[in-house]
Amino acid sequence: MKQEKVIVIGSGPAGLTAALYAARARLEPVVISGHQLGGQISITNEVENYPGFPEGTTGPELVELMRKQAEHFDARMVIDEVTEVDFSQGSPFTLKTHSEVYQAEAVIITVGASPKRLGVPGEDEFIGRGVSFCATCDGFFFRDKDVVVVGGGDSAMEEGLFLTRFANQVQVVHRRHELRAGETLKRRAQANEKMSFVWDTVVEEIVGNGKVEAIRTRNLQTGDAADLSTDGVFIFIGHYPNSRLFEGKLAMDEKRYLIVDDKMMTSVPGVFAAGEIMDPVYRQIATSVGQGAAAGMMAERWLVDRE
Ligand code: NAP
Repeated sequence: MKQEKVIVIGSGPAGLTAALYAARARLEPVVISGHQLGGQISITNEVENYPGFPEGTTGPELVELMRKQAEHFDARMVIDEVTEVDFSQGSPFTLKTHSEVYQAEAVIITVGASPKRLGVPGEDEFIGRGVSFCATCDGFFFRDKDVVVVGGGDSAMEEGLFLTRFANQVQVVHRRHELRAGETLKRRAQANEKMSFVWDTVVEEIVGNGKVEAIRTRNLQTGDAADLSTDGVFIFIGHYPNSRLFEGKLAMDEKRYLIVDDKMMTSVPGVFAAGEIMDPVYRQIATSVGQGAAAGMMAERWLVDRE
C-alpha cells in the first residue's frame, strides 16, 4: 500500500491547480488523472475566457501548461482511475485504483461532470455512428454533411460554431424559443450562415440503419411530429456530476453535487472537493481553477492544524 500526504482525484483545471498549490506547500501530491488527463477541457477546442490569453487558447494547450507547472513543483501524475474509496475510518483514507491501493492523509476530489443524455430511443445505439457529445472529437467526420445540435446553452452554441468548419449545415434543435447561451456566443451563432434554428422542439427518437439518418421531433407549441434528415446528432444539454463513487460516503445535494463548506471541505474532515463536482453554478475554467487553489490551500492548512 502506498502512503501519501495528499491525493488529488481528477486532473482537470481544478485538480491540476489543487495539485500545484499542494505541491508548492511541499506535500508532493499524487494526481490520479482518471481516463483522460485534463478532463473536459482536453476536448475543448477554443478557450477565449480564461484570463492571461488575450488571443485565446485551446483546452489541450492549457492542460499541458497546467500539468507542467504542477509537475515543476513535484506533483506526480498517475494515469489510472480510482475505483473505490473508504472514508469511514477518517484520515488516513484508503483509495483503490485499477492497479494500486493508496492511503492518503488528505484527499481532494475534482472529478468533474459528464454530458447529460437525452434518454431517447436510438441515442445509445448510435453513439459513434452519428451520435456524439463532443464536436472537437468527432466534427472532422462530418465534412460536407448535415448535422443537428441539441441544446440552447453556451456549449451548444460553441460546439455548433465549431461544427460549421466541417458540416454543410448545422441545425440547432432547442426546446424553447430563446437561447440560454450568453450574448456573444448567441450573436455569433445567429450570424453564422451555416447555422439555423428549430425552436420549441424536442427530439423524441434518433433513427437510422447502421448509422444516424434522421431525428423524430415534436413541436411543443403545436404538438406536431416531424422527421428531420441528418447525418449526425450532437447533444449538448448540460452535465451531471461524476459523484457515483461517493454515494453514501459524502453529503450531496438533490442533484448529486458534493456539498462543501466555505473551506472546500466535504462532510468528511480531510476530504476536500473543487470544480464541477461541487459547483452546479459557475462551471468555468477560471472558477474551477479558483476552487482548486482554495482546496489545495485548505488541505494544507487542515494537515498543519492536525499536527
Ligand atoms: P446549460 O447552460 O445547462 O444549457 C443546457 C441546454 O440544454 C439548455 O438550453 C437547456 O434548455 C437544454 N436542455 C437541458 N436538458 C434538456 C433535455 N432533456 N432536452 C432538450 N434540451 C435540454 O449547459 P451548457 O451549455 O453545457 O453550459 C454549462 C455551463 O458552462 C454554463 O454555465 C455555461 O455558461 C458554461 N459554458 C460556458 C462557455 C463559454 O463561456 N464559452 C462554453 C460552454 C459552457 P433550456 O434552455 O430550456 O433549459
